[in-house]
Amino acid sequence: MQEPLLPLKDILAKELGLAPPNRKFDDSIGDVIYQVKYGEDWIETTEAIFRSWTGLRRVNGDDHHGPVYNFGTDDKIIPYTGNRTCGCEACQVNVEAKFKKN
Ligand SMILES: [Zn+2]
Repeated sequence: MQEPLLPLKDILAKELGLAPPNRKFDDSIGDVIYQVKYGEDWIETTEAIFRSWTGLRRVNGDDHHGPVYNFGTDDKIIPYTGNRTCGCEACQVNVEAKFKKN
């Protein structure tokens, strides 16, 4: 018997350790909550995925901008230089010229 197909978001949640959204932040003192924008949703995720997510990101509900790093590495020196969703200066600073947004 074949298993029913899961929505892609559920597959990601299972495979990548993403947890559902719907998180309140006013009671999370001391916790760091990482979220990435996936489709129309903000999805809570692990720090490992967050640091490599090339799309939009939030920390404790606030927009976060800056470099990302290759997934699965513990490299914090050499940033990823490929395409980024956000066109702001902080997110584009390490992007290769051919991928930069105008
Ligand atoms: Zn940005």
